[in-house]
Amino acid sequence: MTENVPLAGVIGQPIHQSMSPVLHGHWLRRYGIRGHYIPMEVASADLGEVLRAMPRMGFVGCNVTIPHKVKVLDLVDQITDRATIIGAANTLIFRRDGKIMADNTDGFGFIENLRQGAPHWTPKDCTVAVLGAGGACRAVVSALIDAGVARILLSNRTRIKAEQLQYEFGKRIQVVDWVQAGNMLEEASLVVNTTALGMTGQPELRVPLDGLQRGAVVTDLVYNPLRTHLLDEAQRRGCHIVDGLGMLLHQAVPGFERWFGQRPEVDEDLRLAVLP
Ligand code: NAP
Repeated sequence: MTENVPLAGVIGQPIHQSMSPVLHGHWLRRYGIRGHYIPMEVASADLGEVLRAMPRMGFVGCNVTIPHKVKVLDLVDQITDRATIIGAANTLIFRRDGKIMADNTDGFGFIENLRQGAPHWTPKDCTVAVLGAGGACRAVVSALIDAGVARILLSNRTRIKAEQLQYEFGKRIQVVDWVQAGNMLEEASLVVNTTALGMTGQPELRVPLDGLQRGAVVTDLVYNPLRTHLLDEAQRRGCHIVDGLGMLLHQAVPGFERWFGQRPEVDEDLRLAVLP
């Protein structure tokens, strides 16, 4: 009974809506791992103190969610390149030497979800239409560029935020006015909604969808509801749709593997476990 039981968890405020405890709990049971994953409500003012205490309490790492994803970068010892580029972290690793490393796995989750949900899609020579330019969009754009897409047409209500991404990520990004967003769909073999539009409690996405190409892949980061208006309409027009839940599930894989020593699988059982 002297063996340490590894602890991990998720830190945020509020934290009650997080699906992470359910999905990590599912994997812990499935692989028979003696470990725990705990939701923790932590205020911004307490974040530094909590992070320093956690390794001493047996934590091997944690996820970080709203509102701490940016602030946490000032409190850790090491930041991966992808978290630096994205400007936010969602996964922390407490190393044996006492140092805290911050990573961002949202882009990984996005690409893995596409690979699983649309295995025929290939990034090479691909033109992608991306709606939005918020925090999640940075991870998506960075992952698409790493994957080797040819061109990203980017449209956001607040144009300057899209231009900032173009400035940071370079010439493969072309900014399109929000009022013209419907036009860029005609050229895209992949369409991604990274805005909060269509989410329960938010307005619907009103971009005209007539330009969607039959056979294009359409994915929505919104997963509540699972079937957004965008996905319904895209399917009706003969597109291949991929919902946003898979991104949430796949982004959790690297953290779980690092903390608990087992690469977990994202499959239908997991989806059923986290769906309300
Ligand atoms: P964020 O940083 O707050 O960005 C919100 C984005 O939505 C911005 O581009 C914003 O445009 C746009 N937007 C909001 N209200 C709008 C409106 N009325 N009209 C036009 N555009 C509007 O949020 P985020 O962290 O990027 O998250 C965006 C969505 O992705 C959320 O629904 C979130 O739940 C989801 N998400 C899903 C996953 C997953 O694993 N599936 C991961 C991360 C996020 P402006 O710049 O003009 O305000």
